[in-house]
Parts: sequence; C-alpha cells; structure tokens
Amino acid sequence: MLPVTAMCLLAGSVVMTRRTAAAQATAVDQGVGTLNELVTLRDSMLVQQTASAFDVRFLELGANRAIASEFLGFDWSAPIVVERESATTAIAALGADSPIAEDVLQALYAGIDSGAIDPRVATERFGGYVIAIGDRVTSGLDQLEVDASQTPLVIELESLREVIRLVDLAAPQAIDLSQIWFPSPGDTPQTTAAAMAQLSARRADFTASIVRLRELGVPSVVEHVGRLEADPKVQLFELSATDTLRGDPLFAPGEVLDEPRTAAVAATFDGYFVRSEIVEALVTTATQAVRVEATLLAGTERDGFLLWTFGAGALALASIGVALWLARSISKPLKDLAGYAHAVNEGELDATASPSRHQGPRETRMAFGVFTEMVANLQLLDAKANALAHCDFDDPVLRVPLPGRLGRSLESSVALLSGSIVERDQLQTHLAHEATHDSLTGINNRAAAITVIEAAMHRAARTAATIGVLFVDLNDFKAVNDSHGHEVGDEVLRQVAARLLADLRSGDFVARLGGDEFIVVAEGIADVADATYLARRIIDTISEPIEVGTLHISIGAAVGVALTLDGPEEPLRLLARADAAMYRAKYHKQSAIEIFDADLQQQMLERVDIETALTAALQDPTGGGLQLHYQPVLDATSSGLVGVEALIRWDRPGDGMLQPDSFIPIAEATSLIIDLDCWVLREATRQLISWSTVEALADVPVAVNISGRHLLSRQLPDHIRAVLAETGIDPGRLSIEITETVLLEDLAAAAAELDIVRALGVSVAIDDFGTGYTSLAHLQQLPIDTIKIDRSFISQLNVRRGSSLVRMVTDLGHAIDINIVAEGVETDEEMRALQTMGADHLQGFLLSRPLTAGALSTWAQGRAVVAASAPVVTGLRLLK
Ligand code: C2E
Ligand code: CA
Ligand code: CA
Repeated sequence: MLPVTAMCLLAGSVVMTRRTAAAQATAVDQGVGTLNELVTLRDSMLVQQTASAFDVRFLELGANRAIASEFLGFDWSAPIVVERESATTAIAALGADSPIAEDVLQALYAGIDSGAIDPRVATERFGGYVIAIGDRVTSGLDQLEVDASQTPLVIELESLREVIRLVDLAAPQAIDLSQIWFPSPGDTPQTTAAAMAQLSARRADFTASIVRLRELGVPSVVEHVGRLEADPKVQLFELSATDTLRGDPLFAPGEVLDEPRTAAVAATFDGYFVRSEIVEALVTTATQAVRVEATLLAGTERDGFLLWTFGAGALALASIGVALWLARSISKPLKDLAGYAHAVNEGELDATASPSRHQGPRETRMAFGVFTEMVANLQLLDAKANALAHCDFDDPVLRVPLPGRLGRSLESSVALLSGSIVERDQLQTHLAHEATHDSLTGINNRAAAITVIEAAMHRAARTAATIGVLFVDLNDFKAVNDSHGHEVGDEVLRQVAARLLADLRSGDFVARLGGDEFIVVAEGIADVADATYLARRIIDTISEPIEVGTLHISIGAAVGVALTLDGPEEPLRLLARADAAMYRAKYHKQSAIEIFDADLQQQMLERVDIETALTAALQDPTGGGLQLHYQPVLDATSSGLVGVEALIRWDRPGDGMLQPDSFIPIAEATSLIIDLDCWVLREATRQLISWSTVEALADVPVAVNISGRHLLSRQLPDHIRAVLAETGIDPGRLSIEITETVLLEDLAAAAAELDIVRALGVSVAIDDFGTGYTSLAHLQQLPIDTIKIDRSFISQLNVRRGSSLVRMVTDLGHAIDINIVAEGVETDEEMRALQTMGADHLQGFLLSRPLTAGALSTWAQGRAVVAASAPVVTGLRLLK
C-alpha cells in the first residue's frame, strides 16, 4: 500500500498543480478579455482626444472642424464615429467594470457635437479618461502577469504589453505633427522644436516596440505588425512624419496650402487614422493571442488535471484491486489451510487439501506444503498403526516410507512400535500357546482338551456322530520316576506324547492332562468295537519299549473310554466317565481297556449319593450313623493290650452297616476325607475319656487312620492340636496311621508333616507296609514309631516271600528302634510264626475283631481277668 499511497499523493499534488494552472489560465483568459476591452476603450479615448486636439488647433487657427475638414479635404468625423462605436461596445462588454459610464460619455459626445463643450475641455476630458483607463490597464497587466506566473503565457502577455505601449506611442503622433505643421499663434520656435523632439522620441520608441514585438515572436502579432508596415496609407503617414523630422516638412508653417499639399496633409492624417485602427486591431490580435494560448493552456491543464485525476483514481482503484487480490491470494489459501487443519483436527485425515495450496505468497504455500506433508505423514502413520494394530506385519503400507524429514524421524518411532508389537504379539502367541499347551511335552493340555471336546460335541449335535474320549493312564510310571529319576520320567512322557501324536488318525486330538495321564478325543467313532480297537492301538504304541539313553523302558497303559452314545453331554462329565472307566481298568485289572457302561454309571451315581449323605452325616451332631469300632492290638509276647485301632463304620439309614471300603475311597476323592478324619480323631479321643473309668482301658492308646490327602494338606498338625486341646488327653495315647503308598507319593513333604505331628507327642505308624516300594534305606529316614506289616504278607507267611519280608522288616525295625505290628493275624500258626520272628505287636481276627466301644470294655475287663490268671497268650480265639 505504501507505493500506492505515494502514487496517490504524487497524483494529488500533480492534480492540484494542474488545477491551479488551469484556474490561472482561465483567470488570465478572463483578465485578458477585460484588458482588451479596456485597451480598446483607452485607444478610442486617445483617438478622440487627438480629434479634439485637432479641433482645438483649428479653432486656434480660426476654423472649426467643418471648415478644417473642408479645407483639408479630410473629415475626421468618420473615424470618430468608428471610435465612438468601439468605445460603446467596450463599455457594454466591461459592464459594471467600465471606468466610464456610457451616459456620461454620450453627454460628452452631445456637448462636443453641439459645440456646447469647448474642444479644449473635451480634449482634457478624453485625456483624463485615457489616464484613468491607462491605470486600469497597467494594474490589469500586472495582475495578469502575476496570474500567469505559473503558465507559459508570459510571452503572449509581454507581447500584449508591448502592443499597448505601441498604442500609447502611436496616438499622440498626429497631435505632434499638427503642432509642427500648424503652430498656434502663441507658439514659439522652441515650442515647435520641443514638438519635433517629442515626435522624434515617440517614433524611435514606436520602431523599437515593433522590433521588440518581432522578437517576442507571437505569430499572429508578428503577422499583424507586418500588415501594419505594409499598409500604403500607413507608409504615407510614416513618410510625411519622417520627412518633417528630417527638416523637409510636407507643409511648413506660413506656407500657403495649395491643392497638392492639402491632399498630402489629408492623406497623412488619413494614414494616421488607418494606423490607429490597425494598432487598435493589433491590441485585439495580441489579446486574442493571449486568450487563445490561455484557453489552450486551460484546456491542456484541465485535460491534465482530468487525466491525472482519473489516472490517479484509476491507479488508486487498481491499487485497491491489486491489494484486494493480494489479500485474497493470501487469505484464500490461509482460509483453506485453516479449514483443512480444522477437518484434520476433527479426525478427517482423508480430507483433501484445496488446490489453493499452490497459490498465494511463498510463506503460505510453504505452511500449506508442510501441513499437507504432515497430514500425509499422519495418514500413512494411521494406516501403519492400523496395520500394526491388526498385526498385519506383511501389509505393504508398513514398507512405504513416511515423507519428508518429519517422516524420517517418525519412521524410527514406527519401527520401535512395530518391534514392540511384534514382541508383544510373540509373547501373546507364546502365552496363548502356553495356556493351551503342555510345557513338558508340547502337546495340548487339559484346557485345550475341554475346548476341543466341547467343539466336537457341537458338531456332533448336528451330524449325530459319536465322540469317543479315551483316558490313558500309564502303568508303573511312578516306579520309573523312582528308579531312574525325574529327568528320565520326563523323557518317557515326551516320547509317549510324540508316539500318540504320530499314531493318531486325522481329526483325532491328543492332550496331556497332567502327571502320566493323557487323553485322546476321536470324532466319528462307529461303535464300542471301534473305540476298543483304537484303545488297543494306543496301548500297543505305548507299550513298545522306550529308549532313554542306554535305558530300555517298558511301560504299559490303562485306557478308559467314554462315548457320547446317549446323545449330547457335557465335556467334563464325558471326561469324568472316561476317567472312571480308566480307574476300573487300572485297579480291577480284568482288562487294560474299559468302556464306561451302565455299571460304572451306577457306581458314579452311587458315589454322588454317598458324597451327599456323608456330608450330611458329618454335619449331624449325632454322627448321622457314623460310629467307631475298635480293634485291639496285643503284645506278641505277653498278649497284653497295647492299644486299639479306631475303624470307622457307617450305619447308614436304609443301607445297614457300611464298611469303610464302600465310602472311604469316595471320601478320599474329595476333601470330605479331611472332615471325616477330624470326626474320627474327635470321636476316638472322646472315647478315651469315656474309658478312663474302665480300669482295663484307663490308659489304652488309640490309633487313628489318617488319609494321605489330609497329611499333605498341611492341616493335620492343627487338627490334632485342636483335638488334644479339646479333650486334654495325653498325646502319648494317640497315634496316627498313614498308608505306605501315600508316604511314597511325596516322601519329603510327608516326612516334614510327620515330624510336626511327632513333635506334638503323637506317635506315627506306617500302615499296610509292603504294598508300596519303600526301600529299606528310606525307612531309616522316615520319622515313624511303628510299622504295620500288611495283612497280605501275614497270610503268606507260609510262602517264602511273605516270611522273608516279615523277618527282614522285623530285624531292621528292631535295629532302628521301630515297633513292628503284624496285621490280619487270623491263625495260630501265623501268630506263632510272628512271635518266633519277633514281631512286637499283633492285630487280627484271631485276637479280636473290631468291636464297638461297649463291646471292647466288656472284652477288656473279661480279658484282664484272664490275662491276669493266664499271662501266656494262647487260645485267644476264645475271646473273639
Ligand atoms: P486298615 O487300616 O488296614 O485296617 C485294618 C482292616 O483290617 C480293618 O478293616 C479290619 O477290620 C481288618 N482286619 C483286622 N484283622 C483282620 C483279619 O484277621 N483278617 C481280615 N481279613 N481283616 C482283618 P476295615 O475296618 O474294613 O477297614 C478297612 C480300611 O479302611 C482300613 O484298613 C483303613 O485303611 C480304612 N479305614 C478304616 N477306618 C478308617 C478311618 O477311620 N479313617 C480312615 N482314613 N481310614 C479308615
Ligand atoms: Ca490301619
Ligand atoms: Ca492296615
């Protein structure tokens, strides 16, 4: 805008100058018009003054104008008429500005014509007017020169001033000449000489003025001057005047005016008047030259003014237009950029950048460019983030480089992000794999198996196909672990898993449930025979010797099969059925393959029934039919009562007396066994208190059977402590019995718990010894007080295997200060053999069956008498 403003200011100043010049030119034009009228009027007054002076001269010579005219043959009334007309015209043109009133002038004329006004007076009046008008002309000229100072009109004005001078110099020459030619009677030779000098001076000035006019060179004036000099009448006047001044006057004073001379005089004065008229016209010409030039100038200046005004206006408009265009060219892309930025900010990353981003000033284009690039980066980044979010690492967009320098720095972030996503993805995959896979063998785990069974069931629901679930349990795996170590055991499991996987039919599924248990899910089983065939194949595969290093391990398996023959089932129930079938296969040893059937179904139902009833009985304060029987344990040598073993019975309403075999295993499958153990502990210790009044039983110790599950639950010491505190009995009167197989499950954990129990003062016995594989070395480390040799060995005492074990265990037990109890002594032979072998205590039907508490009191009291009278223990059968 700065140059625009400067341009406008300049234009304004030029316009003002032009306007002033135009105004001046106009003022000059008007002023010069007035001046022309004034000069004309003055010239008219001058000529009339001259005419009146002639009148005066001829009057002095004794003649009036008419006589003189007659005499000279020249009537100056005619030019007077012309002069008067031009005066009237000038006064009318001047209007109120006229220095002479028209009526005053008319009165003067009337006075002159009627002779009422003396010619001398008239001459003076005209002379006064000439002076008055002359002042006005001078001041007018001065004013004009001031007005025209700023214009090139100076030359024309100068020319005009010269012309006016010319008028002043021309007019009085006729008077001078007449004074010389026709002196008044009172004139002296000096007067004539002065007139001569005056005429001579005026003529010299006149000539100089003409020269000056030529020099000024205003064409119309120069041309007019040429005409003046060329006029023959004017030349005649000039000749007469020159001759007169040279001393050769046309008419000398005192000479008689003859005819030719009179004509010459008349021609001279005629020439004078013609010259006056031409000079007067010259004024008009000079004036006209000024006016023409002024009008021209005013026009030019006005045109210039208009040109500049309109030019400046147009320039200003154009400038504003350019400014607006500029502003728009800046604001449009800026506005578009703002809109674009807003859209992007609103999340419209795919908003299109307006084409105006290539327009406007460099800064805007740059900002737009940078922003567009940024958006392109964001778009690409978005796409990349999307690809990463979908873990689509092969998406080609991930390989497209982000544009620009910003892009390059973002690229590293993307790479970092992508890296960490890959890591996380791998971790997730790993975790997902872990969640569904067994870490040891790498095959599917129990969770995956359940999902697979469920999915298979959904499919089967549509196709009515049969699903088979085969529960596989390795035989004697524990022995492998025990004899070769866990690493070998793990390798065996891996190889079994690999074999199962390799041997499967397509569509079948294999998983490890944990420990040495596997499961195979087979869809589209035709019938039981088909399932049995599959189970057989599995067993055969597993039974192939397994090589681990140099070892060749043979391992068998039991398989339980459950089929969905009866329609839809729940995965877990199907699994439980297969488990139950496997259990039967394993522990009933009739066959390595068992199919879940109606019997098992019945058994399972019974189990549930027993669980429910037992739970209720344990919560019943009266015991719900649960009761303890006590089987005496006698000293092998003295046959004295050394203790009793509490054995549970359940007088279940409607079922009669149930033996522990029918409900203990069921309780052992759940934590119900812990509640049951606690019940027995409490009941047995209470019984001890009841017996304190029975002399034979006052100090008798009681042995309570404790489940392995209870022992390993780590709650046993607390439970025992509670019972001891509750009853206040001597801990030495309580002992617990743990079966050997349980101890072997986790020897270290069991030993730790038993240590705590023994620290309470309660003694510990290994029950059913010989059924497990306790090495004799282990025996020494176990925190036990008593070994109860299993009944199966006692009944085989007559066989070598039985007797040698009993002897061996007895010897060892004595060596490390452990009591040896022989269980299930049924015959005298057995008793004697055991006595011979050195067993410490005996227990069995031969000595006493388990008895109710009351029966035991009676037994003990009666026996005490017998025992007292017959210390040698024989014929105990009688006491049964
Ligand atoms: P156990 O601990 O080995 O108990 C001895 C079993 O042998 C008792 O069977 C007893 O009646 C039986 N018995 C004793 N002498 C002879 C004999 O000369 N010949 C024969 N054939 N059997 C004899 P019961 O009472 O049926 O108990 C069976 C098993 O049930 C017990 O074996 C024990 O493991 C478990 N049990 C019994 N009561 C309890 C209990 O209160 N708690 C726990 N956890 N288990 C118990
Ligand atoms: Ca026992
Ligand atoms: Ca036993």
